[in-house]
Amino acid sequence: MLSARYHCLNNCPGECSLDTIIYSCPQCGDLLEVRHDLTALRQKSAAEWKTLFERRYRSNEWPYSSGIWGKKEWVNPHVTDENIVSLGEGSTHLFRAERFGRWIGLDHLWVKHCGNSHSGSFKDLGMTVLVSQVKQIIANGKKIRAVVCASTGDTSASLAAYCAASGIPAVVLLPKDKISPAQLIQPIANGALTLVLDTDFDGCMAIVKELAKRPDIYLANSMNSLRLEGQKTISIEITQQLNWQAPDWVIVPGGNLGNISAIGRGFLMMRDLGLLDRLPRLVCAQAEKANPLYESYKTNFQEFHPKRAEPTAASAIQIGNPVSVRKAIAMLQEFDGIVEQASEDELANAAALGDKGGLFNCPHTGVALAALIKLVERGEIKKAGRVVVISTANGLKFPEFKVRYHLGQLAEVKSQYANAPVEVAADLERVMEAIKRRQNAL
Ligand SMILES: *Cc1c(COP(=O)(O)O)cnc(C)c1O
Ligand SMILES: [Zn+2]
Repeated sequence: MLSARYHCLNNCPGECSLDTIIYSCPQCGDLLEVRHDLTALRQKSAAEWKTLFERRYRSNEWPYSSGIWGKKEWVNPHVTDENIVSLGEGSTHLFRAERFGRWIGLDHLWVKHCGNSHSGSFKDLGMTVLVSQVKQIIANGKKIRAVVCASTGDTSASLAAYCAASGIPAVVLLPKDKISPAQLIQPIANGALTLVLDTDFDGCMAIVKELAKRPDIYLANSMNSLRLEGQKTISIEITQQLNWQAPDWVIVPGGNLGNISAIGRGFLMMRDLGLLDRLPRLVCAQAEKANPLYESYKTNFQEFHPKRAEPTAASAIQIGNPVSVRKAIAMLQEFDGIVEQASEDELANAAALGDKGGLFNCPHTGVALAALIKLVERGEIKKAGRVVVISTANGLKFPEFKVRYHLGQLAEVKSQYANAPVEVAADLERVMEAIKRRQNAL
C-alpha cells in the first residue's frame, strides 16, 4: 500500500495523516515534511516508473494527463481521483535557449517554462495538490470555512483559481502596492476575498499564521509542505525531458525558499528510487534587495539573519524572512549548492537579453539568468556544462517592468537592450526608412 504522511523536519517522534490540518510540529514547532513509504514505491522498478510516467505524460487520461497527477503515487497517493482539482498544470516546455546560451558562453542551456501554466506561475504545481487535499478533507466530513494565504502575487492568483474551480472559499492577504496590477486582478476576478494590507509580505504572513490557528481555516502558504510535493515534479519532469539524465546545474530564483527545497526533494526521490545515479548542483538566485540567504551563504550557512526586504522589480521574491530557510539550507548543502545575487540592473538586463533570444521573462527569471551569467563569467559553470534555469512566472504578468525597461524608466537600471517602439508617419517611404535605419544599426 502506498502511503505518504507528515513528519517533523527535525525527526521528532510521531507522524500523521495528510487528512490532518497541521503545518508545524507539535513538539518543536518547526515545519513538517511529507515522507513517502519508499519501500512500497520500490515495488515498481525505476524502469517501470519511467514507462508509467511517459505513458501518462500529455495523454488524455484524466487526471493523469496533468504533469503533477501523472506522478500521483510520488505526490499524494491518498487523494481519490474525484477530489482532484486540476487545471492542466505541469508538462511545461523545456526551451533550448540556444542563442542566449551562445551569447553568454554556454553550449547546453535550457529554460524550464514553469510559468506557462493556468495562473501564469509555477505556484499552480503545488496549489493543485493543496486544494485537492482540502477537497478531500471536506469530502471526509470536516468543515473548512476558507483557505487563506499571504502572497507576493502569484500564490494568491493560483489559490483563487483552484478555489474558484472547486467552489471552496479563498481569502488572500496582499501587501499594498507591492504586486503587479495583473497579479492583483487575478484573485479579484476569481472571486476570492482580496484583502490589501498596508504592510509588506512578511507582515501579511505574520497575520496569516495567526489566522491559521483556527480549526476551520486552512493555510495555503508554502509552510504547508503539501505544496512542495507538487513542485518537486519540476525536477522529475526536467529529467524526463532530458531522457532521464540529470543536468549538471539547476538555477532557481528564491524568495520564501519553498521551490528550491521542492526541486531538491524531487531529485533526491529519483535517486532514492533508482531513477538517477547522479545529482545536479543547485543554485539559488536572490535579488540583492532581498538577499538573506545570500548573506547566510557568505557565512557558510553558519548564521542566518532575517532582514527587511527592500523594494525590487523582482517583487515575488521581495521576502526578508523566508519560511522554508532551514529546508533550503539543508538542500543546498546536500547538492553542493551556491547562492548568488543580482542587482536591479543585472536582473533587468539579463531578463531583456533573454527576451532577445526568444524568452519572455518575468523579473524573477531575470534574477536567475543574471546569476547564471555571473557563474559563467567566474568560471564556476563551464562552457560544456548542462544547465537548466527555472523560469517561475510568465512575463505577461509584469508588463510595467518590461515597458519601463524599454523606455529606460526603471530605477537603478541602465537599459542595455532597450528596444523602444518607433513612431512613424502612416507613409510607405517613412516605414521603409525606419526598416533601413534598423538594418544599418545592426
Ligand atoms: C513564488 C515565486 C518565486 C519564489 O519561490 P519561493 O518558493 O518563494 O522561493 C519566484 N518567482 C516567482 C515568479 C514566484 O511567484
Ligand atoms: Zn519537531
